[in-house]
Amino acid sequence: MTTQFKPWWMPLAIVALLLTSVLLFALLVLKSAITQPTQTRELQSQQNNPVYRWKMVTTWPKNFPGLGLAPENFAKAVQKMSRGQLVIQVHGANEIVPAMGVFDAVSSGSVQMGHGAAYYWKGKIPAAPFFTSVPFGMNAQELNGWLHYGGGLALWREIYAPFNLLPFAAGNTGVQMGGWFNREINSMADIQGLKMRIPGLGGEVFTRAGGEAITIPGGELFTSLQSGVIDATEWVGPYNDLAFGFHQVAKYYYYPGWHEPGTTLEIIVNQEAYTALPEHLQSVISVAARMVNQDMLDEYTSRNNRALRELIDQHGTELRKFPDDVLAAFRRISFDMYDEMAAEDEMFNKVYRSYKQYLDSVRSYHDISEETYYLSR
Ligand code: CA
Repeated sequence: MTTQFKPWWMPLAIVALLLTSVLLFALLVLKSAITQPTQTRELQSQQNNPVYRWKMVTTWPKNFPGLGLAPENFAKAVQKMSRGQLVIQVHGANEIVPAMGVFDAVSSGSVQMGHGAAYYWKGKIPAAPFFTSVPFGMNAQELNGWLHYGGGLALWREIYAPFNLLPFAAGNTGVQMGGWFNREINSMADIQGLKMRIPGLGGEVFTRAGGEAITIPGGELFTSLQSGVIDATEWVGPYNDLAFGFHQVAKYYYYPGWHEPGTTLEIIVNQEAYTALPEHLQSVISVAARMVNQDMLDEYTSRNNRALRELIDQHGTELRKFPDDVLAAFRRISFDMYDEMAAEDEMFNKVYRSYKQYLDSVRSYHDISEETYYLSR
């Protein structure tokens, strides 16, 4: 019989190996205990909080100053507030649909959202311009009061509901400018036969006053004015008008923007897409819309005056005020026209009654507060 040689350290090595294995096993068990619930939680989170990827079409060129920045700011705010759960890709005019195709694209559900202005759709809905701006109507502050505390938004939703659309106020330019003219306007005689780009109900008034209102998208205005296709154009105000370079092709810059005294922009959401969202994401949309609605007005308030100074001091633009009798004639034509349109269209009548009643009541205070203060400071 031979005795097998066993080194003295062998039992120690076996114990050490066993201990290491136990330790490694314990570590693995611990790791899996820590990571598995996290993975499970993430999986559950993805199932409970799916990411929504939406498309938003706009009536503005991509990133156009002011108007075109609102949809971008809106999309960024929504993404942050929803912690990445609602991601909105913004498309400028003509990327998916042309500017005037926004309403139909959102209505049909081919995209989920749009940004533009209600008065572009007056051919489909005669009362729509009240939710953007109407000649001699409310200013930004008053319109926001009517929309959010005077029943205006509920009426807006009522007239858009048959089109499967949910509207939100989403931007305001404040009082616009009267426009760029190649000749001076000294009386109503100078309006006769004048070809002017002027949209919405302002265009109707201008035509009734003897002018010729022409509809041209923003991107074509400069060349139309330069080539004489039109004699005059309005756009927005100094900030946007300077960016378009109208001062290079027209000499006189008229005020005030009687036709757009506080232009509200809109976000429209496809009703089915909106209904399919969880409630907290619906709230995110609503809060982000209120944010850009105010933010745009703040931006215009800050930038318009700087741009106006540049137009006058550096580019020789001549400021002119419309003669009082021209403004009075435009005003008379406007309210006659509203009465006439109210008699023709039931919904126009309903919206106009609410709008006019609010305008009259808010004026009784604004005449002694805002207006008197403006005149006395
Ligand atoms: Ca305008």
